[in-house]
Amino acid sequence: MKKTVKPATIAAHAAGAIDLQSGGVVPALQPATTFVRDADYGLLRTDNIYSRDNSDNLRQAEAVLQRLENADETLLFPSGMAAIAAVFRTLPNGAKVILQSGIYWGTTAWVRMFCARRDITLTEVDADQLIASCVAIDIDLVFVETPSNPWLKTVDIAALRAVTKALLVVDATAATPILTRALDHGADIAMHSATKAINGHSDVLAGVLSTADKGSQTWQDILADRKMAGAILGPFEAWLLTRAMRTLPLRVKCMSQNALALATFLSEHPKVDKVLYPGLPQHPGHEVAKQQMIGGFGSLLSVLVTGAREDALKVVGKLELFLRATSLGGVESLVEHRHTIEPDTGIPENLIRVSVGIEDIDDLIGDWDQALG
Ligand SMILES: *Cc1c(COP(=O)(O)O)cnc(C)c1O
Repeated sequence: MKKTVKPATIAAHAAGAIDLQSGGVVPALQPATTFVRDADYGLLRTDNIYSRDNSDNLRQAEAVLQRLENADETLLFPSGMAAIAAVFRTLPNGAKVILQSGIYWGTTAWVRMFCARRDITLTEVDADQLIASCVAIDIDLVFVETPSNPWLKTVDIAALRAVTKALLVVDATAATPILTRALDHGADIAMHSATKAINGHSDVLAGVLSTADKGSQTWQDILADRKMAGAILGPFEAWLLTRAMRTLPLRVKCMSQNALALATFLSEHPKVDKVLYPGLPQHPGHEVAKQQMIGGFGSLLSVLVTGAREDALKVVGKLELFLRATSLGGVESLVEHRHTIEPDTGIPENLIRVSVGIEDIDDLIGDWDQALG
């Protein structure tokens, strides 16, 4: 496949993956765990030995993501958390880490536990203070999330890169590689939960890391650890992911348009106090988001409805099209009352997190209109 084609073309063609054996225009699913040798004990394919190392289906999915991300190399993991853990496991005992605060709760909870066990100094810093903190402290790793979940804060990756030599890891799950290519802005590693919009059909759990420098020691450690410790994505999941990614640019475009329209509608509604969405001009991160995000602001927003916990839960209960479920980035719209899930982390009780899907925007706005009453 040509090197210069644009993301929608890379995705639609699955980076050129076809089935060479049958001539099928889509790659075959190959679930084998082990691969045969000939009479001279040579492998039929030297890169296929045992499926804990790698597999064709995994490489096909990784090739699509590597091209979309503009990366030197990309690795898939069995979940987003497994990808994050793979990065942190490369740290030596006693290392120093800065973690953005108010991000995906699963990340915060796991990183706290891991750092405590390894005598790693962990400093949690709000998005607005990241630059100042990174200048002041000598650190090994900085982990940020942009836009963040559920606060929708925006981190200026290039500005952060300019002040730190630490390993800069960006969780860009809410942006996807279509809207933000973190490596292009100076990140060392771009991370995504592929469970979210990259797969987009709420039926595959996966995580992804992409590097700007596959020769770096950190990346070599991640690669060796995945292979030897076995945090590998199965061929079926990889095959489903490759299938789903054919429409990734299309889905992301539609979800971003829908999310902006819904955010605009809600921000003008009398029963809404505030809407957090980087696409709104009044959002504090809007200028950074405009520079850093290409062609849209993503599917994720948070709505603070007028009133208290009961009022938010009443609205959530009245919604008919937005399914009440955790997660984000799927073709179907979802809502979540974050305070119920994460009661002790400062999430306002009137906050409803919304993941906007690809349904008709008139139906989505109509649903919120009737639910707000
Ligand atoms: C869901 C999510 C993760 C974790 O990914 P899993 O695939 O659920 O393990 C990490 N970061 C963000 C921003 C997420 O939304």
